[in-house]
Amino acid sequence: MENSRHSLSPEGPNGPDDHESQPLVRSELHGQFYVNRMRLRFAGGLEDRYRRYCGLRDRRYIRQLVNILVALYALYGLFDWLLLGAQVEPILKIRYAMGLPGLVSIWFLVHSRKFDSYLDKLVVLGLFWLSVTTLTMIRVVPDEAKGLYLISELAIIMAGLTIGKMRFWPALTSGLLFVVSYLLILMPFGGVFSFLAYYLFLSVGAIGLCLLAQYSSDRSSRREFLQKLLIHRKNQQLKKLNSRLKDLAEVDPLTGIGNRRSFDQVLDEEWRRARRRGYNLAILMCDIDFFKSYNDSFGHQQGDLCIQQVAQCMKQTVRRPGDLVARYGGEEFAVILPALDKEEAANVARVICQSVRDLRIPHPTSHANEFVTISVGVAAVLPDEESVASDLVGLADEALYLAKKNGRNRIQVYRPAVESGQKLMDSSPKSVG
Ligand code: GH3
Ligand code: MG
Ligand code: MG
Repeated sequence: MENSRHSLSPEGPNGPDDHESQPLVRSELHGQFYVNRMRLRFAGGLEDRYRRYCGLRDRRYIRQLVNILVALYALYGLFDWLLLGAQVEPILKIRYAMGLPGLVSIWFLVHSRKFDSYLDKLVVLGLFWLSVTTLTMIRVVPDEAKGLYLISELAIIMAGLTIGKMRFWPALTSGLLFVVSYLLILMPFGGVFSFLAYYLFLSVGAIGLCLLAQYSSDRSSRREFLQKLLIHRKNQQLKKLNSRLKDLAEVDPLTGIGNRRSFDQVLDEEWRRARRRGYNLAILMCDIDFFKSYNDSFGHQQGDLCIQQVAQCMKQTVRRPGDLVARYGGEEFAVILPALDKEEAANVARVICQSVRDLRIPHPTSHANEFVTISVGVAAVLPDEESVASDLVGLADEALYLAKKNGRNRIQVYRPAVESGQKLMDSSPKSVG
């Protein structure tokens, strides 16, 4: 899309991620305001960025301008013919054999995306070519028609300088090129004090005024560019800060998995979604066995490391999108498994238990195994209007309590009394790694 906000980002044609040149810090950008005020040229890579920004901003406009210019140039053959009658032939030759092919080539360049960043240079080239061919025409037209051609030439240059959206320096180059080509093409022919010399004097004055206008418009355009760049930077910083705040609010700093807060939030969302759509919601409550004695044996730092390993292991085991593994507190973890029934959730719990055992973290003081193990309480319900999400946590907690009571290093599925004749029933025999 030509005019998308993204492509117009002052950071570059590909938006904020386009870091061809080193990103500038804010103080540097502020400094550029002053550099810009003095020299009308940014320092370092910023000038290139500004050029690309102008190219993207103005390319549609410049293309339309060049379309009109080329069409007018071709149509002016009619004006030549009406004005000059039988003497028109050399003029038409200059216009169509010399001028038009050059302009059409420039037209192609202007319409090619590759040259988007060089549009003002192409405008300089186009104006130069228009001047050269018109001045050549002035040289050959009869004296009585010279005035009209000179006026049209001056009009073209003035229009080009004011509405051509050039930066100041290219515009100045364009004005100088006009003067040089005028001197080279017309002065040897007209003589220093002739009418042509007075006309040049007049043209230089008019071009000077146009350049003054161009100077001020380039300055404000640069100021606008810098301001946009600063706003863009500020927005990026804010985005980064927001995502850091989000991490601080939702990620457990020790393990890098979700914290209690994110667990509560996701559980609430999933509970309501499951109730709306009419599917099960399952959760697992997991607790490391005999962890107090692990800490006593190896110290708290090693204990932290163990908690990290278990957390990462659980996260890697539970990979379905929509599932969540969170640190519920201390060495307890909770897993949310949407759309799973008890048996399916129990299978996930078994895999998690086995994966933790497979870590083979030595735990000599555990009465459950020689390695670190966990106990898991499993609960799944079909959410309805009468129950709330915390009820499900309570059920999984009850199951976990029983898993601990029955010897640890096992999973325990919560089953309602009516279903199994007893409230909780072990769904898996203790399996020792
Ligand atoms: P059980 O098998 O019944 O779970 O026995 P346990 O020793 O693991 O008992 P409990 O779950 O009550 O003990 C939790 C211990 O975990 C207490 C505390 O010292 C330790 N703990 C809690 N949070 C951290 C932590 O962030 N780092 C470390 N190193 N230890 C922690
Ligand atoms: Mg424990
Ligand atoms: Mg505990």
